[in-house]
Amino acid sequence: MRVAFLGPPGAGKGTQARELAREWGVPHLATGDMLREALAAGTRLGLEAGRYMDQGALVPDDVIIGLMGERLAAADAWKGFILDGFPRTIGQAEALAKLLADAGQTLERVIFFDVSETELLRRLTGRRVCRRCQTAYHLVSAPPKRPGVCDKCGGELYQREDDGEKTARNRLEVYAKRTAPLLDHYRAGGRLVTIRGEGPIEAIRYAIHEAVESGR
Ligand code: AMP
Repeated sequence: MRVAFLGPPGAGKGTQARELAREWGVPHLATGDMLREALAAGTRLGLEAGRYMDQGALVPDDVIIGLMGERLAAADAWKGFILDGFPRTIGQAEALAKLLADAGQTLERVIFFDVSETELLRRLTGRRVCRRCQTAYHLVSAPPKRPGVCDKCGGELYQREDDGEKTARNRLEVYAKRTAPLLDHYRAGGRLVTIRGEGPIEAIRYAIHEAVESGR
C-alpha cells in the first residue's frame, strides 16, 4: 500500500489519511504535520520552514526532500504509507520516484481530492485543529462537543496561523501554480484517480477504498 493523497489545502486529505492509515496499518506521512512539529520543537529546520509556512509559501524542495528521504527510510514505512501533502512540486515528485526506485518500490496510486474553491475557503477559515492529536474540526459543519476541546483526546483546539483568509487564499494560489501540474504528471503515468472530496466523510472514504482497490 503506497499511496499519495493529492489536492489543495482544505480538501480533506489529512482527515481521510489519519483514519485510513489506522485501518490499513501503515504510517500517515504528512509533511505539514512534520514541519509544524519541528517548528514547535524549535529545531533549525522548523524555524527555517516556519518563515515560508507563515506566508502560505512552499518550503524549498531540498529541505522537504531531505526530510522525506529520512522518513521513508524508517522501518515502519517499508511496508507502505499514505503520503499527505507530499509531493507538492514536480521536483518533489521526481525525487520521490527516485527514492522509491532505489528501494525497488513504486507509488501505486495517487488519489486526487476534487473540491471547489468556495468550499476550500469555507473549510480552511473555519478549521480548528487539536494541538495534541491533529484531529480537524469545523466551527460550523463539524464542531467539537465542547467548544475548544478535542472530542477524541481532550486536547486544546487552535486555529492554524496559515488558515486566516489572506494566507489561505495565497496557499490556494500557490497550489494552482506549483502543485496542480502534478495532476497531468501522474495522469500520464496512469496512476491518478480523481475522487469528489465533497459530501459525507464516509462516502469519501468509500470512494478512496474503491480507487485504491482499482489499482491492485
Ligand atoms: P499542510 O499542513 O499540508 O497544509 O502544509 C502547511 C504548510 O507547510 C504549507 O503551506 C507549506 O508552507 C509547508 N509544506 C507542507 N508540505 C510541503 C511540501 N511538500 N512542500 C513544500 N512545502 C510544504
